[in-house]
Amino acid sequence: MKKLKGIGVSPGVAIGPAYILLTGRIKITRRILRPEEVSREINRFHRALDETIRDLEEVKKHIPAEMSQPLSIIDAHILMLKDPSLIRETERYIRESFMNAEWALRKVLSRYQQIFLSLGDFYLRERIHDLEHLIDKVILTLQGQNNQTTLKEPAVIVAHDLSPADTARLRPDTTQAFVTEVGSRTSHTAIVARSLGIPAVVAVKDVTETVNPGDLLIVDGLSGEVIINPTQEVIEEFLDRRLECQERKAFLSKFAKEPAITLDGRRVAIRANIELLDEIPLALEFGAEGVGLYRTEYLYVTRRDLPGEEELYRTYRQVVEGLSPELVTFRTLDIGGDKFAQELDLPEEINPALGLRAIRLCLKNPALFRTQLRAILRASLFGRVRIMFPMISGLGELHLAKEILAEVAEELRREGVELKELPSLGVMIEVPSAVAIADLLAREVDFFSIGTNDLIQYALAIDRGNEEVAHLYEPLHPGILRLIKQSVEAGHREGIEVAMCGEMAGELFCVPLLIGFGLDELSMNPQTIPAVKNLVRKLSFEECQALVEEALNLPTPEEVRALLLDWFEKKDLTLF
Ligand code: PEP
Ligand code: MG
Repeated sequence: MKKLKGIGVSPGVAIGPAYILLTGRIKITRRILRPEEVSREINRFHRALDETIRDLEEVKKHIPAEMSQPLSIIDAHILMLKDPSLIRETERYIRESFMNAEWALRKVLSRYQQIFLSLGDFYLRERIHDLEHLIDKVILTLQGQNNQTTLKEPAVIVAHDLSPADTARLRPDTTQAFVTEVGSRTSHTAIVARSLGIPAVVAVKDVTETVNPGDLLIVDGLSGEVIINPTQEVIEEFLDRRLECQERKAFLSKFAKEPAITLDGRRVAIRANIELLDEIPLALEFGAEGVGLYRTEYLYVTRRDLPGEEELYRTYRQVVEGLSPELVTFRTLDIGGDKFAQELDLPEEINPALGLRAIRLCLKNPALFRTQLRAILRASLFGRVRIMFPMISGLGELHLAKEILAEVAEELRREGVELKELPSLGVMIEVPSAVAIADLLAREVDFFSIGTNDLIQYALAIDRGNEEVAHLYEPLHPGILRLIKQSVEAGHREGIEVAMCGEMAGELFCVPLLIGFGLDELSMNPQTIPAVKNLVRKLSFEECQALVEEALNLPTPEEVRALLLDWFEKKDLTLF
């Protein structure tokens, strides 16, 4: 038995066999062959190639004959692997440069990459991704660990990292838990794990090396513990913990449908953050009063081309109708940064979080933006819709975005779409400069939604995906508390509502402060809603305001934390 420790980011206890998912580039070592090893290495290469081709043939058998597109893609991949020049060049590196097969394959790949990229053609660039993927598959076969991306049996996924695309493809019925080497509480893997209700632990150093495929793992998504091959006694202890978790969930679910009203009568809207259509029934079951943040990026994930207006419209309409009469807040595309840069083939940036992201990307590619806005506006006819723009850092961006929205609406009206009123419009407050000019922004929009994941990242200068600085993520930092206060006050002075949709909104520990700040809405992962509602119903707004005053006078996060702990204890409030 061995114990590892990481950051628990999605509560729950799972016990199951490890499934090592190798993502990203595979680590390979270079080995110089002795002359007598050359022919054996060439045979090894051929065996791996044949095995990879056999695997692909096997995959083909499971695809129905009428699905001609996937079949032809796999056929094309098989042809690539049988390509005589690929085989010849790899053999040449092995024979003449005494390279091991893995290294020789990488050399051949980098030659192809140079040639393909110099052509600058989008279609050809895509084909090089296919080749990279195929060569990785052969290398994995050489290393005896061919990678499968779909799970057949329930298992605990262990990976260096999971891209948002990987995460979106994993299903709660087969994925018992996630464990990754990188990430933080607000990295996207963590957010998706929470909303799917899958226990997850991130930032576990070297876990892909320490765990072997099939090892029995216990994952505690609350404490961040990962136990490899536990003893029977430990298994029993965790089974008890799991039961406790389930009982707690069942108890809290009783509060799901109650409104969040404080003891002295202040009502706060509790909404859900969703990213997938499948999450709507779950969000409603957990008592969401609509959706405060619909992350619209996911439709762009599972594909290589961009979704068209019709497809977006159909999905958005389903979302709007599925939630009606409650409202849906569409956040326009927030691509870039740690989200989907890979899928969309965006250029690599040294500093992606500060790069061409979100509204900046949309304003640079107006066609992409307009397509999405047209689809949202058309869907808005079928229920209650709000729109909000991410990453607004100044008025200029807001003006341009509003102009495009107005043009798109006019265009639709000319086409006969009966758009009487436009949906209410908001901005996310997630860049420190937006807080500084919140008074100016508030005059131009109908609501604010504070995105603390990014606001904390930018204000405290900590990369939200970097496990080395994850411990510095601190919602209770006096700097952050002041930024929140300033945003709420600026919004209220102009008579607009102020919501919060960052992960902080669902941190029970922070909820009394958020109520005290006067936030009108908290939007969070659906699973947390019952617990937050239950807590709000035990609070007094007036007391929370006094608590905020006290907290704002404290100089360090530690003192704010101590104040809160003390307060929870005095009020006899449990922190599940
Ligand atoms: C945020 O930044 O707080 C937020 C809600 O948006 P995302 O996590 O999608 O960047
Ligand atoms: Mg954000």
